[in-house]
Amino acid sequence: MSCQHDHDEDNPLGKPDVPAHVQDAIRTLIEWAGDDPAREGLLDTPKRVGRAWLEYCQGYAEDPAIHLSRQFEEVGGYDELVMLKDIPFQSHCEHHLAPITGKAAIAYMPRDRVVGISKLARVLHGYARRLQIQERLTAEVAKCIWDNLEPHGVAVVIEAEHGCMTGRGVRTPGVSMITSRLLGCFLDDPRSRKEVLGLMGYG
Ligand SMILES: [Zn+2]
Repeated sequence: MSCQHDHDEDNPLGKPDVPAHVQDAIRTLIEWAGDDPAREGLLDTPKRVGRAWLEYCQGYAEDPAIHLSRQFEEVGGYDELVMLKDIPFQSHCEHHLAPITGKAAIAYMPRDRVVGISKLARVLHGYARRLQIQERLTAEVAKCIWDNLEPHGVAVVIEAEHGCMTGRGVRTPGVSMITSRLLGCFLDDPRSRKEVLGLMGYG
């Protein structure tokens, strides 16, 4: 039996179709970059890239606040801060479509209810899986928790490397950018701010 190379072999059932005009756009980009979109190694690339971008930007398909809808009021008198740190994430910058890779620390001071701790990471990913700038990502995560959980305070610190800075332009690998958003008690009360930033490792 002859074995024909099937260029659709990486598209098992269930994977989204990539429309022709999207594939054409990626072929144009490959050509623009200096390569030949018709050479064998690149034949399936337009489809793969199309699907990859759907995944990178999955956040557009969801409202991150949904992850905070299940709240627990039984907190056993616990009224100290709750923190998740070193949460890895990937996003893409809206200026170059280059990867932003980093980690986040998210904390809040509960008022009378808490959420499952993994939900904080889900909120982060919901906003990270979009075209972003780090400053807005930081602010959006903080605001989502602030609005939906109505805690005494929220603190979000994000530290990330930007592909558009490490792989092009000034080409400075190893340089990371830090952004923070503090709300409520973490903004107003110097002691709370010192505590949360210290626990995050930025003290
Ligand atoms: Zn950029």
